[in-house]
Amino acid sequence: MTNEHKINESKTSEYKTSEFEKLGISKELLRALNDEKFEKPTEIQELAIPLVLQGKDVIARASTGSGKTLAFGSTILQNTKRDYGIQSLILAPTRELAEQISKALKKFSKYASLNICAIYGGVSFNPQVEDLEYAEVVVGTPGRILDHLSRNTINLKHLKTLVLDEADRMLDMGFIDDVEKIISQCPKERQTLLFSATISQDILRLSKKYMKHQVEVSAEEYVDPTLLTQVYYDVDDNLKFSLLKHLLEHEDAKLVMVFCNTRKNVDFVANNLKFLGLESLPIHGGFSQEKRNRTMEQFNSKKTQVLVCTDIAARGLDIKGVSHIYNYNMPNDAKEYIHRIGRTARAGKEGKVINLISSRDHENFRSILKDDSLKIEALETPELERIPIRWIPEGRRGRDSRGGGRGSSFGGNSRGRESRGGYGRRDSRDRNDDRREYSRAPRHRTDSRDSRHRSSSRDRRPSSSRIGRSRF
Ligand code: AMP
Repeated sequence: MTNEHKINESKTSEYKTSEFEKLGISKELLRALNDEKFEKPTEIQELAIPLVLQGKDVIARASTGSGKTLAFGSTILQNTKRDYGIQSLILAPTRELAEQISKALKKFSKYASLNICAIYGGVSFNPQVEDLEYAEVVVGTPGRILDHLSRNTINLKHLKTLVLDEADRMLDMGFIDDVEKIISQCPKERQTLLFSATISQDILRLSKKYMKHQVEVSAEEYVDPTLLTQVYYDVDDNLKFSLLKHLLEHEDAKLVMVFCNTRKNVDFVANNLKFLGLESLPIHGGFSQEKRNRTMEQFNSKKTQVLVCTDIAARGLDIKGVSHIYNYNMPNDAKEYIHRIGRTARAGKEGKVINLISSRDHENFRSILKDDSLKIEALETPELERIPIRWIPEGRRGRDSRGGGRGSSFGGNSRGRESRGGYGRRDSRDRNDDRREYSRAPRHRTDSRDSRHRSSSRDRRPSSSRIGRSRF
């Protein structure tokens, strides 16, 4: 946008934000939207903003990246007064999402200069207590907000707007009790907004219990299915990592997300890529919040192109320019799969999803394929040189070094194993954040010993020629 297009408060309607003006957006916010170069409202903004600004309780079906922050932010930013205490609370399922929402609201409120803070676990309490004293808008994860409520370090008596963002995720992650406890401490006279990618029976029950004369709006999916390619390779377990390396080197990619089901698998993939000189950023709930924030900043800035992650990174985050999603482990249902793949093929850009299916993933993959809307094409596994595995997590070393270590993909998806091991165990105060990171476990565990003992000549044979799609 050129200088002559720079907004002038008295001439807002002449600028491209005029479509926002029709929705009832205030001048301060229009100026901020102009600075952000937003030209016209997204579908969910068009549908929800007029209702939200009328003070109605709204249930909005909208997915990640649909522009929902502004949809609920409009009323928050226009109706919040400085120095009148906390007037808006936004609950979000993950720390990363809370951080992202608070950053977006800060940008939108730059001409209203409100005190907006993000409150989540994994970081120290005291700075948050200070922030909460001055805040007008709080974005937080349920566990830490509840902790502040129990310590009386957050005062919700002036609250006017409560937002439940990614409500389906919050319920999936087991936050329902915490969310209800928090709602019970909010004033009854308030506006409640609920944003969710899916509207399940549980969401409807929640809305009936806590919302008044609620209006429902629904936006189309933001991911364009015609721009999305989904493929899978049926690969021997002991060649999975080699295939990943091969594809990372041969695919023409921008930003890449590699999804694993457990923290150990994230460490396994990222550390073994490092041994090969391939830079990647690992992220999972075992890292400190500062490290997680730094990692996301580095990935967002495109300084490192590959993020190896558990599902925490899939929940609600808006990362621009993700061209490839790899499922190194398959999630155990179509809902989680759709959530992962929703990170690509956004905003008119093409995207590719590559599923690496070994015997451990078969059952999960079968359950994902029950969703008929998913079109996933089988591809022939290319000729591969087996890459020696150089990094094996503690506790697996003895076992893997007895023969499997060289080529094992280390599928370790089991929840029991992960949670018993105390790997990256969390501070009890932060117990609720990202609670179910481990829970996406497959329903059974297949022993990969057979594949580990295959001879190297067999390892080089393309595997998908042996297994057709009908197998699934
Ligand atoms: P959200 O769903 O709120 O996380 O927004 C997703 C992305 O879309 C963010 O990067 C926003 O800055 C951007 N965005 C939101 N609304 C608009 C709009 N009307 N025009 C252009 N970009 C937008």
